[in-house]
Amino acid sequence: MASKTSRQGTALDNLDVAVGFTLPRRSVRGRLVRLGPLLDEVLAAHAYPAPIARTLSEALTLTALLGTMLKDAGGQLTLQAQTERGIIDLMVCDYRGGELRGYVRFDGDRLADLPSLPSLQDLFGKGKPPQPGGFFAITFDQALSGERYQGIVPIEGDSLADAAQSFFGQSEQIPSLVRLAVNDTGHIAGGILVQHLPEGEEGRDRIHTRLDHPEWEHVRILAETIRAAEMVDRDLPAETLLWRLFHEEEEVRVVSTIELRRGCRCDPEHVRSVIARFDAAERETMATDDGTITVDCEFCSRSFPIRLSDL
Ligand SMILES: [Zn+2]
Repeated sequence: MASKTSRQGTALDNLDVAVGFTLPRRSVRGRLVRLGPLLDEVLAAHAYPAPIARTLSEALTLTALLGTMLKDAGGQLTLQAQTERGIIDLMVCDYRGGELRGYVRFDGDRLADLPSLPSLQDLFGKGKPPQPGGFFAITFDQALSGERYQGIVPIEGDSLADAAQSFFGQSEQIPSLVRLAVNDTGHIAGGILVQHLPEGEEGRDRIHTRLDHPEWEHVRILAETIRAAEMVDRDLPAETLLWRLFHEEEEVRVVSTIELRRGCRCDPEHVRSVIARFDAAERETMATDDGTITVDCEFCSRSFPIRLSDL
């Protein structure tokens, strides 16, 4: 069968990039993401043990897969995991305009008692059925319309990818496949998201979806052949990987290439302007005895001390 791929833009490397694609004849869209130096930069701000670094790397990959789906370039996507009794009680990642950041709050003492490759339930807690151990909240903020949409799914299944698939299947009613992988050294992470949108539907407006649509079944089976090793192979360009997966298809179209970087919005001037908006009495209660208010950025592990006398 005649096949072709088209290409827009060229990433300098196969790392820190999100590649959008479609299978036009199958009403399928998708993303491939591979992260490298960006992860090193995020992790360098913290001293996370390997299982935490690995989980955050997967979560950042998932955040990039979801965030680069936003049509509105100024929009923000936030992925947040919260648990009652998990070793990880809070994990936050966000994406805006090609920038990713994230951090994890966890109990190091309890982590030390776990096997070196703990399960999702080990880290986020098992809960007491039918109550799950915790929840993932995925929030889409559209900058242009000011619209905010949040979906919440229980932390269940074996992996973050399973949880993301449940989010799309249950909460969004969009047949989706999500796979995530981190390499052995933890320095490269990769993932794929593939979705079926018959008739260009946008998901939330629909009233009925066939999760067993034969067209989707076919594509899902092809996409599922992706291997973890391929997702984290920095020598494997996205176009080559897409071709391997979907070469039987009439057309695979690369529609976007978004370069990703680590970024944070914290800065001393901004912190100062936020503090300055409180009235003097409120600032007094926030300050320590020496007249300093300290604001922390958890993403960067940085503190911004603001002296009341400087305001
Ligand atoms: Zn920061």
